[in-house]
Amino acid sequence: MKKKLLIIFTGGTIAMEVDPLLHAAIPSLNSDEIISMISNVEEIVNVESINFANFPSPHIRPKHMLEISNIINKNIYRDDIDGVIVTHGTDTLEETAYFLDLIIDQEKPIILVGAMRNNSELGYDGSSNLSAAICTAISEKALGKGVLVVMNNEVNAAGEVVKTHTLALDTFKSPEFGPLGIVDNDEVIFYRDIISRKHIDTKKIEEKVALIKTASGMEANIIDFYIDSGYKGIVIEALGRGNVPPQMIPGIERAISSNIAVVMVSRCHTGRVLDSYGYKGGGKHLRDLGVIFGDNLPGHKARIKLILALGKTKNLKEIKNIFENNNI
Ligand code: ASP
Repeated sequence: MKKKLLIIFTGGTIAMEVDPLLHAAIPSLNSDEIISMISNVEEIVNVESINFANFPSPHIRPKHMLEISNIINKNIYRDDIDGVIVTHGTDTLEETAYFLDLIIDQEKPIILVGAMRNNSELGYDGSSNLSAAICTAISEKALGKGVLVVMNNEVNAAGEVVKTHTLALDTFKSPEFGPLGIVDNDEVIFYRDIISRKHIDTKKIEEKVALIKTASGMEANIIDFYIDSGYKGIVIEALGRGNVPPQMIPGIERAISSNIAVVMVSRCHTGRVLDSYGYKGGGKHLRDLGVIFGDNLPGHKARIKLILALGKTKNLKEIKNIFENNNI
């Protein structure tokens, strides 16, 4: 029997064309126009679509991600829905994908997809990407894999994938572990699995979470700014293995003593943070101060996780547990 997918359209380049007056791409296509570009789609799948928005993805906020997750949770348990696809701008696609992966605890395939070339450019990749997403979403092999990102015939896990190039069609990569699989000849083929996934059981989010990238000679003033602006969480992309310039320490101490969750990850593109160094500002010092370690996440994904964790609890011990206990 033909499967049925729910496709939630949120905007992005996959829905864009060049405006003749602006000479620049803006949202323009609706769901029917995008689906109609996929030849023979009605022969392989039934589609129900929701026009959630036509946002460029820099306009997508965590509150929109929560709204999208609520729509998915409302529909994914329906017997007649076999999977969900979300079309999305590529700029923040990995953030929405990771948000949905953490908050939705469901076996059916949930796929994020976008395009790098808009429909006014030669070689619009929206229809081929959406076709590959459909082939993945209707496959039994995609069950229980969590939220997946399908672009350029590659399948990546939401927790691992990042946008690596501003222009290239194969921009979405999992730099540390590689893709889970590929889409070839209208079929998804997986070469590896995800061993553990995290779930944060919350209906609420905390949007006041900042992200600070560390660089040599930085001081505490940016941290003080966020404390004074009422932020509830701060993610620090630290140096190397997880170390910061010593001048940042008074700000970190002040944040933690104000019950603000401080999560550290690395500005390196791959690898975990660890308390390897004992000098002032080193990982051991930061751990002793109560800084929470965010494993190998990039800063923007650690921020998404903290937005959800703080929605669930403001207790710093529980937040540390969410980040550092691999069994959760
Ligand atoms: N700026 C666009 C967006 O994220 C880029 C894209 O969709 O690929 O909406």
